[in-house]
Amino acid sequence: MNKNLLSISIVIISTFLFNSCAINPVTGKKQLVLMSEAQEIQMGKDADPQIIAEYGLYENQELQNFISAKGKQMAAISHRPNIEYNFRIVDSEVVNAFAIPGYVYFTRGIMANFNNEAEFAGVLGHEIGHITARHTVSQQANATLGQIGLLAGMIISPTIAQYGQQASQGLSLLFLKFGRDAERQADELGVEYSSKINYDAHQMADFFGTLERISAKNNNQLPDFLSTHPNPGERMVTVDKLATQWQRKEKLTDPIVARNSYLKKIDGIVYGEDPKQGFVENNTFYHPVLKFQFPIPANWKTNNSPQSFQMAEADGKALMMLSLAPGKTLQEAANAVIKNYNLTVVQNDQTTINGLSVLRVIADQPADQQKQSPAIRTLSYFIAYGNNIYHMIGVTDANSFSYYDTLFSNTMSGFRQLTDQEKINRKPDRIKVITATGNTTLGEILTIRGINDGKKREDIAILNGMTLKEPVVKGLMVKVIDK
Ligand SMILES: [Zn+2]
Repeated sequence: MNKNLLSISIVIISTFLFNSCAINPVTGKKQLVLMSEAQEIQMGKDADPQIIAEYGLYENQELQNFISAKGKQMAAISHRPNIEYNFRIVDSEVVNAFAIPGYVYFTRGIMANFNNEAEFAGVLGHEIGHITARHTVSQQANATLGQIGLLAGMIISPTIAQYGQQASQGLSLLFLKFGRDAERQADELGVEYSSKINYDAHQMADFFGTLERISAKNNNQLPDFLSTHPNPGERMVTVDKLATQWQRKEKLTDPIVARNSYLKKIDGIVYGEDPKQGFVENNTFYHPVLKFQFPIPANWKTNNSPQSFQMAEADGKALMMLSLAPGKTLQEAANAVIKNYNLTVVQNDQTTINGLSVLRVIADQPADQQKQSPAIRTLSYFIAYGNNIYHMIGVTDANSFSYYDTLFSNTMSGFRQLTDQEKINRKPDRIKVITATGNTTLGEILTIRGINDGKKREDIAILNGMTLKEPVVKGLMVKVIDK
């Protein structure tokens, strides 16, 4: 469940031991790589189940089949057709796509934002390009470990942060940031591969416009897909030029865009947060499927993933995390966690909160001079509920513990059964594809549908790659957001 940051760095550093020269499949040049092909493929195989556990697969067989079919078609014409490829859509609202050796992942968030198959194919080619050019194993890959876990960057002490990571080696692979040259090369390969299976790579250039608008909406926080590029505009221009060149080379006179068929495929997919994975409202976390709730301290930041729910104080001095604990009894669960985090128990007692049996444990981790980490004190509640044992842990440095103790306890003892039917039955937003019945604008369509909230209107405009004033001709399909 938990590996600390150091062990990840060791894994990455240790791969340098396997330095050797190999021929790069894309450039045909000799390249200093960090591991053999067999090791590289194994790394992907090991990481895949961890990535699925972290994000979950998006339950839509038609879309999963679609990405697999297109991915395999493209891999076959790539520079590296001989290895096995797997393509997956993961259940995340974040707009992102990423690749590890042999595996390509698209989020449902990015699938919702494409407006045709050609945009999708361009990004698919980009991700396959990272694999064929062996970027993960080349020296251009450098790990930015601070990215692991959305909260990790803001936690002041790396020792505290490690509790929020749950970062296995597999997940750490996702945060290997490719250098700018690798991203440029992947863009080129995206154009090449998508052109070779007859898609219009000009559409890929247009998609950078969508990404730019998404990043502006998120206070200029770039999606990972763009983050190593200071200038998506420049990238758009380059891709556009390359698209023209490749279409000439491939003699593509009528390249595929496939707008309507793509929109029909994503009609009905979940958009934004899916309440069944748990959601935050009014400083409370609700889990409608596991049927529990607990309060969140005011002004704390939160991060929800299928494996854990994390909360951190805005100044990063303390964090709390809820996850499932292993073991059949509270004591077994506690023993496993104490061992896993390498803690020393200071105090423990059994109690009842809201009718549930709880084992409370205070445990310490000593200071480590070498890692320059302070002494840590933790409070854990092991809670028996339903057929599960939940573990909520609060972590801070030993000197601050007396300050956070009450806050930790108040949150943990607020864990209770969720009975509110409105929360239990909460439905996600979905993409709905509609056909314009007359000549109109996107803005008018939304007004007629009663969508008046400014933020939601802008979100829908971005989803369509349009402005609200943009004319929509009769018969054109557009996306709206619906329940
Ligand atoms: Zn990339």
